[in-house]
Amino acid sequence: MLQSSKSEFIEVIIDDAYSRGIAHNGVVVTIDRQKCNYSMYDPSGCKKCLQLCPVGVFSTRPIEKRDFSIPSKERIDPTLWIILAPWADWCNGCAACVKECPQGAISIRIGEKQLVPTPGPDPLGVKG
Ligand code: SF4
Ligand code: SF4
Repeated sequence: MLQSSKSEFIEVIIDDAYSRGIAHNGVVVTIDRQKCNYSMYDPSGCKKCLQLCPVGVFSTRPIEKRDFSIPSKERIDPTLWIILAPWADWCNGCAACVKECPQGAISIRIGEKQLVPTPGPDPLGVKG
């Protein structure tokens, strides 16, 4: 695990595979880091989820290096930014991000309902 942070409403966990916001109201927003091609600096890099979510679930920030021999102020890597979901508890289940993510990188669970990208003519699989 690279990073984990917790608030009264949500836990954000970031590891090499996933960036995940787990809200106490039963919403879990997961971004597959192997698929997401977000770029902070490349103007052509994807920022779609940030732009289209109507309630601002997503955010971006630089990740911290897990090397405690480095002074804490120097652990932030300004070249490596990622997408995270620090306000997953606000998600209204509209599924726009799941449907529009060009990489199929976002999946959402709201209680028993799963919003997951699926290949084929219907880009959105809704289970439960
Ligand atoms: S829409 Fe998908 S590929 Fe684009 S930044 Fe969001 S998670 Fe990454
Ligand atoms: S399902 Fe809708 S409200 Fe929820 S994170 Fe995606 S775009 Fe935002």
